[in-house]
Amino acid sequence: MPQKIAAGNWKMNGTQASLSEIQAIAEAAQESPCSTILCPPAHLLHRAAKLAGPLAIGGQNCHHAPSGAFTGDISAAQLADCGASYVILGHSERREGYGESDSLVRAKAQAALQSGLTPIICLGESQEQRAAGQALEVVLAQLSGSLPDDAQVIIAYEPIWAIGTGLVPTVAEITEVHDALRAQLHAIFGAAGQEISILYGGSVKPSNAQEIFAITHVNGALVGGASLKAEDFLPIMRSL
Ligand code: PEP
Repeated sequence: MPQKIAAGNWKMNGTQASLSEIQAIAEAAQESPCSTILCPPAHLLHRAAKLAGPLAIGGQNCHHAPSGAFTGDISAAQLADCGASYVILGHSERREGYGESDSLVRAKAQAALQSGLTPIICLGESQEQRAAGQALEVVLAQLSGSLPDDAQVIIAYEPIWAIGTGLVPTVAEITEVHDALRAQLHAIFGAAGQEISILYGGSVKPSNAQEIFAITHVNGALVGGASLKAEDFLPIMRSL
């Protein structure tokens, strides 16, 4: 059975003052039957990892090289050195804003695995692609192009048009994509593909989490805005 996971992506939000939120999430994670992962910005990773207990900590991106002249970047080994055990890769904000291709995401995922991190690989179609009936084709192509050789990954389906907008796909739309992802992971990795957690991401809130988590092959959520405050994230964790 895939692990049930509530993962939070803080993006470029948070200062040292936000450590109290991480502390509250870490305390709740102690009682939670699901796995909880929080991905704060890089400058908070080290302190967050010290607070974390059963809460796992992740980075939001890494370079594909182990070290070198890459000003402003961070390697997978450096994330691990801060206490991270996960890294979000291929988020649409990086695919769109920084031109990250499937092959680059795959290279980063390989680098993450080599440093002992589990990659959380994000996939998702734009509104135009969905309107053109291409959602499945786009997401499955991203999956094939972005996956590393090893099944030690988490997948997050995040329709771009649902991120931070308050728009959420219908249950039927989420079901269709998650079923197809599960089938393709099985085709690629065999039995190990059945163990990979497939998260849904895009405007998950306490008010819609239960309905989304009831969908077959939705094994949890990657949450942006609603992970910033423990008062929003805790009810989502409890809905799993
Ligand atoms: C995200 O950016 O990964 C995300 C899902 O954001 P939000 O929950 O704010 O839509």
